[in-house]
Order: sequence, then structure tokens, then C-alpha cells
Amino acid sequence: MESTSAAVSDRYDLVLQGGHVIDPANHRDEPADVAIANGRIARVGRGISTSRAARVVDVSDCYVVPGLIDIHVHYFATCPRLGVSPDDHAFPGAVTTAVDTGTAGWRNFERFRREVIDRVKCRVLAYVNIVSTGMEIPANEQDPWQMEPAPAAEMARRHADVVVGIKTAHYMQPGWTAVDRAIAAGEMAGLPVMFDFAPRPERSYADLLLKKMRPGDIHTHVYARHIPSIDENGKVYDYIWEARRRGVILDLGHGAGSFWYRLAVPCIEQGYLPDTISTDQHTGNVNGPVFTLLHTVSKMLNLGIPLADLIYRSTVAPARAIGRPELGTLSEGAEADVAVIRLQHGRFGYWDCGRGKMIGHQKLECVLTIRAGQVVYDPHGLTMDDWRSLGPNY
Ligand SMILES: [Zn+2]
Repeated sequence: MESTSAAVSDRYDLVLQGGHVIDPANHRDEPADVAIANGRIARVGRGISTSRAARVVDVSDCYVVPGLIDIHVHYFATCPRLGVSPDDHAFPGAVTTAVDTGTAGWRNFERFRREVIDRVKCRVLAYVNIVSTGMEIPANEQDPWQMEPAPAAEMARRHADVVVGIKTAHYMQPGWTAVDRAIAAGEMAGLPVMFDFAPRPERSYADLLLKKMRPGDIHTHVYARHIPSIDENGKVYDYIWEARRRGVILDLGHGAGSFWYRLAVPCIEQGYLPDTISTDQHTGNVNGPVFTLLHTVSKMLNLGIPLADLIYRSTVAPARAIGRPELGTLSEGAEADVAVIRLQHGRFGYWDCGRGKMIGHQKLECVLTIRAGQVVYDPHGLTMDDWRSLGPNY
């Protein structure tokens, strides 16, 4: 048996040859080939035999990384339209797994699943909104009667294969009702909660971080203008570090209004980086300032954070945050979700939610995205043959 499996083991569907692999889950940051067979990672290492590979792609000037994981997107096309098409907006940004954060609640989740999650190539997971109709009916987001923990938790349990948590967002009324009910649903379903939170006099951000959130719960939009991360002297508040020690997760969540260099830069300079990098992609930001997750990662790269660290915060860290540690890796046997990215040097503009621009000299371009072994984004035709070699017949 041993020799038989060895004989067939180099029948790869695709070998990515000569790239630089960054795979933080396996502590790999070095030149290596990646071989894919039957939709899975077959081997990672130097000098992989290609004699029986169906296709070999030279990626020698590129990084090969696990497909990125974006834990804050809106992919449910509600009316008025908020969500964008997963396959159109994830793959160009090197993303193979994305988590819709509460666009749907328990009343419309099964429609979302039927119409989007089950139809697209991108692996779409979800947080169920504590509001029954999610973000589809904006008035309901302000109505505590629409926030029922039991049916939200029941929907999460029924769709446990794709639901990774509970979401609360946009609540502008006084008090903690939305937060408390989301936590109650999280307790019932045994899942983390993601908070989009607006502080008010009676509900402080410090109390959210230190008294309400449980270890593993996620606050998204950490560099938003309405979130007090730094004091009037520009110093990061102590409660941020304390929240870190408690094990709450602090997520970027760029969005149309939640990434400001004026906040992000002093935080990053003091070592306060987001645990996870996410976009909050929706109709209001995919044509700027967000564009894609890789574009957001490029901003962080130009703010001085090393690439390997950024790959960690957009693969391993989000995989853990959603309780799916099998994702975001190039481990042998894992589903082959892979991105090939090229680091360009030049002069590039990056703008934030305050229409403030930063000129950077590095830009990451996604040149190949592979989802479950299938090429889903290949803007330069890396996996194609020269047309002159294809012969006379169509
Ligand atoms: Zn959002």
C-alpha cells in the first residue's frame, strides 16, 4: 500500500513553482513549491517533482499565501442594496473565505443562505444579526422588540455549518439592550459575538471591552472616529491593553467610515495593531476607500507592518476568531484555498474614510486566487497556455 500511494502521490493537478511561501500556521516563511491535487494541498516544500503534474505555474517573483479570510463583509444583496457579490469582490482581494456580518437576521437568514451562501464559489460564512431582519429594514435595527436571543440562537444552531457568531450593529438608542441581547444569543448558541458599537454617556467603550465582552468576542471598527482609542495627548488608553489581556478580539473593519489615519497611525506607532484585518465590504465602499482586503493589507504594509505579520492577521488570526482553525493554512490535506500575490514597488495613493491620502511605495497585487483547488481569479493568465500553442481547432 505504501508504495502504491507513493507512486500516485506526485500526480498533481497544479504546482505553484518557485514562489516564496508565507504560511504562519506552519511557521513557514521561505521559498517553496505548493502542489495541489483533488482540491487539496498535497505538498509544500522545495523541489517538488512536476514530471506528472497536469500544470506547473512559475510564481518565482511572488508570494504564495493561504487564501485570505475577511471576517467583516456584506454579501447579502438586500434592498436597499447593501451587499455586494462575493465572487466579484473577494477573489480579486486574495480572499477565499469571508464572513457576512449580520446583513441577515433569523427571519431572512435562510433566504440569504439559499440565494447567496449556497450558490457562490467563495466560502461565505455568517454572523446572524440579533435583529430579526438583520440590516434589511433599517428601522428594525433600532427596535428592541426585534432583538430576540432565542430565535437568533436557534437559527445559528440550525446552520452551524456556516454560522460562526452573532452580530449587533448600528444601535443608536440609549442603553445596553442590543449588546445584552446579542450576548444572550451568543451564550445560547455557544458562539462569539461581533460588536459594531457606538458609545453614549451611559454606555462607555471601556465598559464594553472590560465588562460586557467575553474572551473571544470581537469588536469591529477599532480605528473609527467614534471609538475612543487614544486620549487627547494621542496616547492609547490603558483599557485597550487591558482588553487585550482579557482576550477580546479587536478587528479593523475598514468600512466607509471606520478607518482614519489620524487614529490608526498613532495606535500602530504605539503597538496597537488590530488582531484581525477586515474590510466591511459593501456597496458604499468597494469603489473606495476599501476596494478589497488586499488593498487594506497594502495600507497596513505601507504603515510599516511586516508582510508576514499582516498575512497572520488576515489568515490564522481570523480563522481562530471564527472557530475555524482548519482554514487559513497551507497544511498538507487542507482544502486548497491559495492566493498568489506580487509586491509592486512604485508610487501609490491610499485614501482613508476622512478622504485623507497617504502615498506609499509598496502595493500588493493578487495575481492568482485558488478556491478548493479551482482557479477562480487569474488576471494575467498565469494558468493559461500561449495561444499560439493551442493548435488550429477550437
Ligand atoms: Zn459592517
